[in-house]
Amino acid sequence: MCSQRYAIITFVWLRFDLIHRDCIVTSSASAGRKRKKATRKHGLIAAIDIGGTYIKAALVGPGGDIVDRDHRPTEAHGGSRHVVGRMVDAVRELCEAKGMAVDSLRGVGVGCAGPLNPEDGVVYHSPNLPGWSRVPLKAWTERALSVPVVVENDANAWTLGEFRFGSGRGLRHMVCLTVGTGLGSGIIVDGRLVHGARGLAAELGHMTINTRGVRCSCGNRGCLEAYVSAPSVVRALRRHLRGGARSKVRALAARTPGGLTAKVVAQAARQGDRPARAALAEVGRSLGVGIANIANIFNPEMVVIGGAVAGAGRYLLEPARQEARRRAFRGATQQLKIVRAKLGEDAALLGAAVPFLEDQP
Ligand SMILES: [Zn+2]
Repeated sequence: MCSQRYAIITFVWLRFDLIHRDCIVTSSASAGRKRKKATRKHGLIAAIDIGGTYIKAALVGPGGDIVDRDHRPTEAHGGSRHVVGRMVDAVRELCEAKGMAVDSLRGVGVGCAGPLNPEDGVVYHSPNLPGWSRVPLKAWTERALSVPVVVENDANAWTLGEFRFGSGRGLRHMVCLTVGTGLGSGIIVDGRLVHGARGLAAELGHMTINTRGVRCSCGNRGCLEAYVSAPSVVRALRRHLRGGARSKVRALAARTPGGLTAKVVAQAARQGDRPARAALAEVGRSLGVGIANIANIFNPEMVVIGGAVAGAGRYLLEPARQEARRRAFRGATQQLKIVRAKLGEDAALLGAAVPFLEDQP
């Protein structure tokens, strides 16, 4: 009886000790010791990337390694509370699968589309999430999970990912441009993201490069984004085909499920198609105008180009490099590297975890 009571007390004490120290309870004693030590010392980070179609979630280790991951449909039609609930469920389930308590997480980093204020974590609105208006994403998530939460807009999260784990490793000054449906961007100055007074800085896609230019999705005329995006590659190609130029793009598009896209134009360019190369060069030169402005204002060491259009590689980047050199101060472009992003689809997810890394300043 006495030994039984002793065993129960010991068990309860051990459970308390494990829970108290935020450790993982495992079935194997040696594995448990190892994992206890690692978890106590470093702690895992939950990283989330909320997109219009999918919520991606991962447990990220201190070195930026993805330990486990989950993705599920966003179900954006269900509204903001529903989406945040799904995101919280993803975190809980990832922790449960690892046998760890949610409150043992070092923190939860969330990347979300849309203008938002990273200080209070309120999403002003989001182009991909209909009905989101002043959503207190940070407060709701902290209340549900009882761990610290940092919210960044998705382009900034992507920039942080490339900065810490991708092309920008070891740099201090870097600008990222992601060229897809639109043109997202992030700015790192002296090792830190530039947020501005209300978290709305770094909208480089909406710098005016042509005062009488075409209308942009933001309502202004002549924004960089109106000339540098996946749709603008397709528009440029159509212009180059108008004179009846021979091109294999239409045949390629007919064989591709998505039809005529920037990806198909890039594919044709790689196969030597002249109109495709001309279209990408035109968009590349506009990109170079933007980079010249960026070089003169921020003097970064590197400009990283990501997104679907970056797949065009040198057909886009070489004209951009030439145009930037032609327009900017020589000193600002002399050592400026204009390169493709390295991380691919996980950049925003990894970047969301960055604020909780051990050595983050
Ligand atoms: Zn604009």
